[in-house]
Amino acid sequence: MDFDFNKIKEMGLEYAEKGKNAAKDLAEKGKTQALIVNEQGKLLKAQRQLGALVYSLAKGKEENQPLVDKYIEMIDSIEGEIARLKASLTPAETAEVEFTEAEEPAAEEAPAAEAAPAEKPRKTCPQCGAPVSDDALFCNKCGAQL
Ligand SMILES: [Zn+2]
Repeated sequence: MDFDFNKIKEMGLEYAEKGKNAAKDLAEKGKTQALIVNEQGKLLKAQRQLGALVYSLAKGKEENQPLVDKYIEMIDSIEGEIARLKASLTPAETAEVEFTEAEEPAAEEAPAAEAAPAEKPRKTCPQCGAPVSDDALFCNKCGAQL
């Protein structure tokens, strides 16, 4: 009798432990998805900045390969981080994240959001004091990370 009781108690503990781990897994996955969405936001921003930089360089017939490289390096590392995070999710969970990603650019199309940043007072680089755009990730002049 005593033996059976202990065995049941053990089994109960085992299941309780499993339940706890499952809950923890779920929380971890939610966190991973949130991290992916966060990284995707950073990626979008870096890509947009790189696009704007390449455009303004081309327009002014200038070259600033080191700065372009910094953006490319940053984009590469964000993409690597996203791939690493996605690898820990199941395809269904990844699809949930993709859905969020697809939703974002639509919201960005609001014309007011595009026009506003250029009008704002200019931020300056803490390294060299050159004016930098609000969204810039690196200083256009000295390449310092902002
Ligand atoms: Zn600078």
